[in-house]
Amino acid sequence: MSREKLIYQIKETLKEMDQIVNEMTNISLMVGGSFGISYRKCGKTNCWCNKVEEKGHPLLRITYNENRKSRTKAIPKQDKEWIKEMTDNYRNFRQNFQKMRQCENRLNELLNQFEKEVKTNTSNLRAYL
Ligand SMILES: [Zn+2]
Repeated sequence: MSREKLIYQIKETLKEMDQIVNEMTNISLMVGGSFGISYRKCGKTNCWCNKVEEKGHPLLRITYNENRKSRTKAIPKQDKEWIKEMTDNYRNFRQNFQKMRQCENRLNELLNQFEKEVKTNTSNLRAYL
C-alpha cells in the first residue's frame, strides 16, 4: 500500500474511533445484563395458571454475570420499558467497545505497515541501507 493510501486509511480509522467514542460517552444510564421474561406457575389450584396449556405468570428479570456466575434480578412490572432501555444501552456500549478494539487492531496494523513503507523508501535512498 502506498504512503498516501496508508495515511488516508489511518485517518479514516481515527474518524471511526472518534464516532464510536462519541456514541459510547453519550450514554448516561445503563444496566449490565439482558432483559427477559420467564414464566412461573404459582401453585394455587384455583388460579388461571393451573392449566397445562398455560405457561404461568410472567416474571420480568434481567440476567447478568457476576464472578463468572449467571445471576438474575426480578424487575417490577412498571419498569419494563425502562429496564429494556437500560439493557439496550448496555448492549450498545459493549458492542461499541468491541468495535473499538477492532479499530485499535486495524490502526496498529496500519501503523506497522506505515513504518515498513517509510523504512523501505528510506533504504532505497542509500546503497548501504
Ligand atoms: Zn397462578
